[in-house]
Amino acid sequence: MTEISTVENFIDGEFMPASRFLDSYDPSVGEVWARIPASGKHEVDLAVAAAKRAFPIWSSKSPSERAKVMNKIADLIEENLDELAKMESKDQGKPVWLARAVDIPRAVHNFRFYASSILHTRNSSTILDVGATNYTMHMPIGVAGLISPWNLPLYLLTFKIAPCIAYGNTCVCKPSEMTSVTSWMIAKLLVKAGLPNGVVNMVFGDGPEAGSAIVEHPDVPLVSFTGGTETGKKIMALASPLCKKLSLELGGKNAALVFDDVDLDEVIPTMVKSGFMNQGEICLCMSRIFVQESIFENFVNKYVNSARNMLVGPPSEASSKLGALISKEHLNKVKGYVALSVEEGGMIHCGEGVDEICLPQKYENGYYMLPTVITGLGPNSRCMQEEIFGPVVCIAPFTTEEDAIEKANSVKFGLSACVWTNDVRRTHHVSQRLQVGTVWVNCWMVRDLNMPFGGMKASGIGREGVNDSIEFFTEAKCICIKY
Ligand code: NDP
Repeated sequence: MTEISTVENFIDGEFMPASRFLDSYDPSVGEVWARIPASGKHEVDLAVAAAKRAFPIWSSKSPSERAKVMNKIADLIEENLDELAKMESKDQGKPVWLARAVDIPRAVHNFRFYASSILHTRNSSTILDVGATNYTMHMPIGVAGLISPWNLPLYLLTFKIAPCIAYGNTCVCKPSEMTSVTSWMIAKLLVKAGLPNGVVNMVFGDGPEAGSAIVEHPDVPLVSFTGGTETGKKIMALASPLCKKLSLELGGKNAALVFDDVDLDEVIPTMVKSGFMNQGEICLCMSRIFVQESIFENFVNKYVNSARNMLVGPPSEASSKLGALISKEHLNKVKGYVALSVEEGGMIHCGEGVDEICLPQKYENGYYMLPTVITGLGPNSRCMQEEIFGPVVCIAPFTTEEDAIEKANSVKFGLSACVWTNDVRRTHHVSQRLQVGTVWVNCWMVRDLNMPFGGMKASGIGREGVNDSIEFFTEAKCICIKY
């Protein structure tokens, strides 16, 4: 029997035992492995009060003092990489190697990058003919509410905490109720790094109770949220009567466009990764692929062969390319879309309903699913329009460049897209017309935090990335001096 961890809220630098709990499951075996606080308004009030008390102290520290603590946090995360990767894998179901290679290093980078950026920030100034000068200042705002999802627990939570505290704000975080253990471990490292009490607070619990209490709190003037589009709409409705500053990173239904001038053997390994990495549970996964009709059949054969070779298995095994999905409910939802695709006229080439999954006995109750590839769906079918957020990729042909662009843009989402071509003119022509926040050409998930990141249409409001984070986490002030 596995020992069950009991998570505590982290408020004002203290770990506070809870009186009500929610179960947290290890998706790899389908068993409860942790109890997390079922927090509500009371705990949020305490956390906001602590963050509010800490704000004048933290915001008056110099950038180099803040950077020093943030670099220490990064060092500690790096020192604990193995343990954090194992925990995140147990929390979320992803392979341990993936957490080691991507999630935890990115958490380290988030702190180092923003720690460094605040040492190089420059303010603008102008000189007027009337004998006056203007200069701008970026002022930290106060207590931020940071609400994050379960799919990349540390990567995304630290992508909010790092810029928030770098610019002098304090915060109350609400990680997903399904992946709270890893965030709790980070809280322990914050204490070790010497972050002053109350600068970062973590309240665990579910969204409708703990999350909305943060969004509605009058002393939280800004909210940064990453999650589903439907939740984003609710948050917007809760925040708007109080005129809060909002950043919403929401869902996606990303398209990859493959033109006939590419070398399929060269591009398919990355394309398959872009469909199925993290069990397809990345907002940036390419869940729709449009392929030029002259190479369609060849592409499907090669893609399916490659997808079929992606081993699904225990997250602890280095050979497992995919681990378990986050929860039983989510697994059923994703499988439900595959069943729906058949009703919608789709043909399943590999994966769910076609191939057998083979797991060691210990993992038989885990939430596993094979990479599934579907063709034959119409552009308006639900499987082509809705975010499935699992290991399911739908492939369809296109005729011309115009047709490819129209198909890619024909969804309500606008997060990201990939263009696979060696034609320079087409690279620019197509990329510029895709209605998404990020276009990758001949690559996927290559990110520079200097660049804006975010979604168009139903994929969100606002951008993250260094300049955009300054805009979001500070208020610009202009001072005009006549001389
Ligand atoms: P959810 O929208 O269900 O939840 C996200 C966070 O919001 C969780 O912490 C959740 O808490 C909380 N929440 C839920 N309801 C409320 C509420 N009424 N008020 C305040 N907070 C609330 O998303 P998932 O966790 O299921 O994550 C998957 C989604 O996130 C996908 O749609 C994916 O595309 C999107 N995403 C977007 C990214 C981007 O950069 N654009 C990046 C990564 C994911 P709890 O779950 O504990 O109830």
